[in-house]
Amino acid sequence: MSFNLKAVLFDLDGVLVHSPLDLPAIKRELFGDASVFIIEGIEALPPHEREEKNRILLQRELEAAADANIDPDVDELFSWIESRSLKKGIITRNCREAVNLIAGNHCVDFGVIIAREDAPPKPDPGSVLAACRILEVDPVDCVMVGDYLFDIEAGKNAGCRTVFLETDKFKHLEPDADAKIGSLGELIDVLERWMEE
Ligand SMILES: [Mg+2]
Repeated sequence: MSFNLKAVLFDLDGVLVHSPLDLPAIKRELFGDASVFIIEGIEALPPHEREEKNRILLQRELEAAADANIDPDVDELFSWIESRSLKKGIITRNCREAVNLIAGNHCVDFGVIIAREDAPPKPDPGSVLAACRILEVDPVDCVMVGDYLFDIEAGKNAGCRTVFLETDKFKHLEPDADAKIGSLGELIDVLERWMEE
């Protein structure tokens, strides 16, 4: 079956951006337990506790965003995406304010941004589908790239092809992705191969 690539969707943290965002530390600060997923953990709290936890989370996210760096391969990758007239976007469980701060500080255009305020967060495919709707592309013509299970699950369940970026942080994971890469720069080769199908 031929593949008509129209858009590339990215997870933000650990993929396009590297920052001191320490999720296990935030989980311990919020819940005293690093095994609780942050968004779901806050959602499960009584309303009066949610506000305080969300405030702490936002503060930690903005601190990390202020110190974030863009992956060195992003420049070349985004130029390639543009040269092929493809669309792009990010799907993140991070907040919109942090994304905007990073985009502004580094003058980078991430394309469509779906943050956790915008759609049901990954692994729910709703966030990926929301990006596809805005970009006016069919999910089967899209690739979702991420470094965590939720990215691959969300992409797969939305109907996208998926690429897992293997990092030291999540090296132990074995997601059911269509391709695996060791650095963002390797993505161009994968996409060019798929475009030739
Ligand atoms: Mg990530």
